[in-house]
Amino acid sequence: AISPDPQNGLRLDDIHISVKTSKKFHRQRLDVILQTWFNQAKKQTFFITDDEDEEYQMKTDGHLINSNCSSSHHRKALCCKMSVELDVFLLRDKKWFCHFDDDNYVNVNSLLSLLSQYDEKLDWYLGKPSIKAPLELPYSKPLTSNDRKAIFWFATGGAGFCLSRSLVTKMEPLVSHGQFMSVGEKIRLPDDVTIGYVIEHLLHVPLTVVDKFHSHLEPLHMMTEDVLPAQISFSYSTYRGNQMNRVALSGWEEQADPTRFLSLYCHLAPDGHKNCPTVMV
Ligand code: UDP
Ligand code: MN
Repeated sequence: AISPDPQNGLRLDDIHISVKTSKKFHRQRLDVILQTWFNQAKKQTFFITDDEDEEYQMKTDGHLINSNCSSSHHRKALCCKMSVELDVFLLRDKKWFCHFDDDNYVNVNSLLSLLSQYDEKLDWYLGKPSIKAPLELPYSKPLTSNDRKAIFWFATGGAGFCLSRSLVTKMEPLVSHGQFMSVGEKIRLPDDVTIGYVIEHLLHVPLTVVDKFHSHLEPLHMMTEDVLPAQISFSYSTYRGNQMNRVALSGWEEQADPTRFLSLYCHLAPDGHKNCPTVMV
């Protein structure tokens, strides 16, 4: 279903899609991805996890990578996984690195058309911030030889972001082989913030805001069905008291599709599969 873009000829196979996960989420979160958008980008998508899992190694066609990072939600473990995500990309010959969380739906067609508009030989940091003003590091301790105060934007990891090959190549001396973890430890902030710090503050490459990336920090039900095909990513979350924040669209009954990913797949990739409800509710 993916056709090459006539503008610059970017192909799906030029994109490396990296999904951060944890063994405790394989069944809970990967199954719905494997049933849906993964089928559109099987060769391009890799799951960075924290343990061996034969069952999911099979289900992902061998695309489960054990980072050997700790399986906690702490900054250090998450930076460790991001570090491995970047290292895996650096070993591959792809034009774009795109990170997503394991509670993201990736609209593969829309991702390809977004990246077709940019030149991977230039430096691009594409994503969406979730804060209204740039982050200011609350202390003045100089982290590098230049002692500028660090004020920078970062793209929310939970909405996904993409980096051009040129940019990751410039990041390499600062982040490869676990150095990314050390940067994260220095500024003591999460992995997506650390990415922003490296790119905007250390490398002076600005974030290009693409508002089509969506995390569950946004009210996802605000999007109307007609705008969904143009979006790049979606997510979902459960609040306390089992209130869900998720995309609102017709399709499967809520019980059968609590994340709405199955219904999104039916809307966004209708030729890719036959298993869609005949009556949309
Ligand atoms: N994650 C992880 N280890 C953990 C908890 C989370 O690797 O112990 C990953 C998870 O798989 C996801 C991302 O970190 O890709 C964000 O986690 P989650 O959605 O649970 O939390 P959020 O930060 O969105 O509230
Ligand atoms: Mn999340």
